[in-house]
Amino acid sequence: HLSPRLQAVADFVPSDARLADIGSDHAYLPAYLLMKHHITYAVAGEVAQGPFDNATHELKRRDLLGQAEARLADGLSAVYEDDHIDTVTIAGMGGILISDILTASFDRHQVFETLILQANTDEVVVRNWLNEHGYQIKAESVTQEDNHFYEVILATLGSQQLSHMDLNFGPYLRVEQSATFIAKWQKESDRIQVIFAQLEAANKMDTKAYRDWQVRYNEIQQVLS
Ligand code: SAM
Repeated sequence: HLSPRLQAVADFVPSDARLADIGSDHAYLPAYLLMKHHITYAVAGEVAQGPFDNATHELKRRDLLGQAEARLADGLSAVYEDDHIDTVTIAGMGGILISDILTASFDRHQVFETLILQANTDEVVVRNWLNEHGYQIKAESVTQEDNHFYEVILATLGSQQLSHMDLNFGPYLRVEQSATFIAKWQKESDRIQVIFAQLEAANKMDTKAYRDWQVRYNEIQQVLS
């Protein structure tokens, strides 16, 4: 079984994919998909020795080393051309790190048909990256685990025009308005109201910070209305 967050990532992986899971840690995601016979091959990439050892151990224990390989490497340099990887998952990292990994790969002229990205923070940076590097967002989901909300973005090669609101809230998520999406942004609204109270108490209403939070708050209200 996967956690709800990783299950949401798994749900977007196309069947028969040749997958690279970057920052794989225990390789739970590729192991799960291989055991379900949902994918045909996987690379589990890890930059750190401990997590790389975890990935190797998990793949070995599940007897998956014929269809999968753990590799110690930075980002998508774990992937070689003759792996014929068509799908990349990157989950459980910040959006800035995810886009840095994708940029390094893009600069090496690696091309992957499908990207499935779950950023813990800064999803807007990830959507911006996709928008500027020839990817089209095809689907999105948002999942709650304990008190955290996790967005998953499925993108494929292609272009699309994303508005400011699409980039910030998700072109699909903001239209679908799922209960989890509403809860996520309600929580963010509540957090911003606490910030307003703090800035007001400190008499810092005439500041750029205050005005920026106001813009953000108003956008959230617009999306939720
Ligand atoms: N993907 C798994 C998940 O979502 O549950 C594990 C997430 S874990 C919090 C993040 C992992 O990314 C760590 O194991 C870390 O070593 C790895 N990582 C960070 N930067 C990386 C990079 N540039 N290349 C490969 N792995 C990286």
